[in-house]
Amino acid sequence: MEWLVFLLPIAAFSGWIAARNHYKKKNSKNETPFNQDYFKGLNYLLNEQPDKAIDVFIHLLEVNSETVETHMALANLFRRRGETDRAIRIHQNLIARPTLTSEQRNRALVELGLDYMNAGVLDRAEHLFLELLTIVTPPVEAYKQLIRIYQQEKHWQKAIEMAKKYQTNSAENIGAMIAQFYCELAEQQFTSSPDKIAARLKQANSYDPNCVRASLLGAQHHLSNHNFKKALKTLHRIEQQNIHYLPEALPQLLEGYQQTNNLPVFNSWLESILKNYPDMTSIRLMLTHVIQLQYGGQAAQDYLYKKLHSHPSVEGLHSLISLGEQSNPILVPLIKNITQTLVQRGHRYTCQHCGFAGRSMHWQCPGCKKWATVRPTEIHLSSLDTLLGNSK
Ligand SMILES: [Zn+2]
Repeated sequence: MEWLVFLLPIAAFSGWIAARNHYKKKNSKNETPFNQDYFKGLNYLLNEQPDKAIDVFIHLLEVNSETVETHMALANLFRRRGETDRAIRIHQNLIARPTLTSEQRNRALVELGLDYMNAGVLDRAEHLFLELLTIVTPPVEAYKQLIRIYQQEKHWQKAIEMAKKYQTNSAENIGAMIAQFYCELAEQQFTSSPDKIAARLKQANSYDPNCVRASLLGAQHHLSNHNFKKALKTLHRIEQQNIHYLPEALPQLLEGYQQTNNLPVFNSWLESILKNYPDMTSIRLMLTHVIQLQYGGQAAQDYLYKKLHSHPSVEGLHSLISLGEQSNPILVPLIKNITQTLVQRGHRYTCQHCGFAGRSMHWQCPGCKKWATVRPTEIHLSSLDTLLGNSK
């Protein structure tokens, strides 16, 4: 039954070819065994004997090279069904035909490369796509797939080179992705060759001036070298680059301001951000923490209690209860357990492209594999329903 659904497009396609040939035959006296053999092949497919069917189709290809499109369609359907071996067999056979035009041959080579990708034999796919790059006008797909391969293998230097070539040869701007590759490279070399970090991040910036990740890594580098002022300057760039990522910079900002004995400046800066973005719970919680560090627990509690009325959030409530832990040793830990569960159940990071939600930061989305689409989110009371719904 499953095969029937799968065969519908092929049947339709073969029908079209049969009809086309029928009309052609009106003008020629040469009868070919084309239709009959095709239906023999289809019959094998219907009887779930795909390998026998492929034999028939391959034989047909030798007789008639006009059927290239049908073979491509058949092979692609096999690949989509996960039957990569069969797709490979058909594509390899196509490529071996001397009658193929160079355009058809290149297309079949790209498809064969995609078969190898699907089968997980990346070295073969890489070899094939690299070969395709040597022709006069290489197919764009070859660059794209090579970039994919080098990402999977974490060969960031190679990924960068290929991405640059792709950008030159296509109209697409993938600067943001190249910047992410430079960040990956910088992360890889963070401890092994720290002298190279600055240069890598500079390159990341030149490809994407709004690369938040480069700023975070730069700040981390400066902090480990005790260049606190430089670290703070780098971190403050994120405000202009992409405000949604500010929560990621808060721990480093705190360290920088503490090390330079400048907590009051940090305090005012947090207040100014909240004035423009009153819904940023993580900023309010950092401000609460900074108030606690400067003026003690009671002042922090008072501030947060007041703010929770105008901007309720689970995370805020949790912090407030934690601040009052000593005041009620029986009730507070009990409520805190509940808020802790709620906070943990909430997703802190969401992909703006595919909706993937998770509890840790991913610069490349595990769902859709896009770069820099995952960003921090906060749990507001409006999301409580979803949280409680999830517990059922
Ligand atoms: Zn995604």
